[in-house]
Amino acid sequence: MDAGTTTQDWDVVIVGAGPVGGHTANLLSTRGHRVLLLEEHNEIGRPFQCAGLVTPNAMKQVGLYETILEEVDGALIHGPSGTLVPVGTDGTVRTYVVCRKLFDEAVVKQAMVSGATLWLNSKPISAEAHSQGVDLIITREGKEITISTKLLIGCDGAHSWTRRFFKMGRPKELMVGFQTEVVGYQYRKRWLEMYSGSEIAPGFFAWVIPSGNDSCRIGLWSTADRLDGRSIEECYANLLDHPLWKERFAGIKETARYCGPVPSGMIRKAYKNRVLLIGDAAGMAKPTTGGGIGPGFEQINGIVDRLSTAIGQNLLSEDELKSIAKSHFEKMRKEQNRARSLRNLLVSDCEDEELDSHFEQFAKPEVIELINAIGDIEKPVPLGMALLKKVPAFRKLALKAGMKMIFS
Ligand SMILES: Cc1cc2nc3c(=O)[nH]c(=O)nc-3n(C[C@H](O)[C@H](O)[C@H](O)COP(=O)(O)OP(=O)(O)OC[C@H]3O[C@@H](n4cnc5c(N)ncnc54)[C@H](O)[C@@H]3O)c2cc1C
Repeated sequence: MDAGTTTQDWDVVIVGAGPVGGHTANLLSTRGHRVLLLEEHNEIGRPFQCAGLVTPNAMKQVGLYETILEEVDGALIHGPSGTLVPVGTDGTVRTYVVCRKLFDEAVVKQAMVSGATLWLNSKPISAEAHSQGVDLIITREGKEITISTKLLIGCDGAHSWTRRFFKMGRPKELMVGFQTEVVGYQYRKRWLEMYSGSEIAPGFFAWVIPSGNDSCRIGLWSTADRLDGRSIEECYANLLDHPLWKERFAGIKETARYCGPVPSGMIRKAYKNRVLLIGDAAGMAKPTTGGGIGPGFEQINGIVDRLSTAIGQNLLSEDELKSIAKSHFEKMRKEQNRARSLRNLLVSDCEDEELDSHFEQFAKPEVIELINAIGDIEKPVPLGMALLKKVPAFRKLALKAGMKMIFS
């Protein structure tokens, strides 16, 4: 039989109708493929665990400007002892804050308008990949059914069933994020704030992000080893009670709270015979910010044309998927690794005292100018490298880390 004429129920089954699953479904159904999206919940966009930051570049890919709650021009970044580093320029949008529920729903709607089918209350329970496709047993509305597809794509988030079922490894880091939604925080319009220090967000940072109608999202993230037995809620309480900043938080009223994982560090091989992983399932969140929507979009955008041709020809073996995905995925993985090394060097592996001395450098007018000129939320590596090269106090750090690892 000609591989291209094999009959499977679907060309592509995507597990997970989050933003990355929805966007992937849209790109593939726009190219004429029969796409089925499986979502285990009975609605899109719930539960929601996200600060809602979407970069202008990621937003451009989906054009969902109606889901924006706030525009953000910059960040007021506080060092452990209070040194303030303002990054950004009034009137120049650096990022958007979206309503994740509306955003996810709208991304999935785009896929459906392009012809994709969505099954809610549906999830896979078993799968077998063979030379012509993947046979899947799924539950749909509580009933077991069998379907077949040429290609299975796991967009099923941090704890991906697809990744675990096909034994595709684990992301390098799994951060834990915690967030509340509050009213009553006095913030500077169009600016978000970041707070650092080992009592608040060991190795990482806490944030306050305006989210429309005078409400804000207050959150923090870290890793289990850095929390060292403390709960993330304890760190949140430390932020609200911090001697330097507690007055700012005194009048807040909490309206919601949630906690979720942030997987960062792309798995070695996000492809196997007839199986691909995209987005959080593959560990795509940025090590510097935790943002996962933009990198998930970039991961699929970089391969979609060649993938579409391969789906049309039903040439989707591991070797074929490797030749489509490897160089793009490797490039992204390398970039993530470099960003992580720079993050560790400048922030995550520093005691508070060292971090304070870094903040003193960051706060110098010529360094702020450099940050504003080169800083890009999406591509932090050029800025990190410029800081190491151009700020004399940081040069010794570059040597400590081994220039080779960072500049390779
Ligand atoms: C506190 C916090 C704040 C964050 N803030 C930001 C931010 O500001 N900006 C940003 O870009 N990112 C942020 N992130 C990360 C962001 O939420 C994720 O990177 C992003 O949601 C990844 O999208 P995804 O589609 O890959 O996965 P998900 O959004 O996790 O979507 C996966 C979907 O798959 C479904 N699913 C899971 N398993 C199955 C299954 N077995 N069968 C069927 N369906 C299944 C889920 O229900 C879900 O709908 C944050 C994360 C946390 C925890």
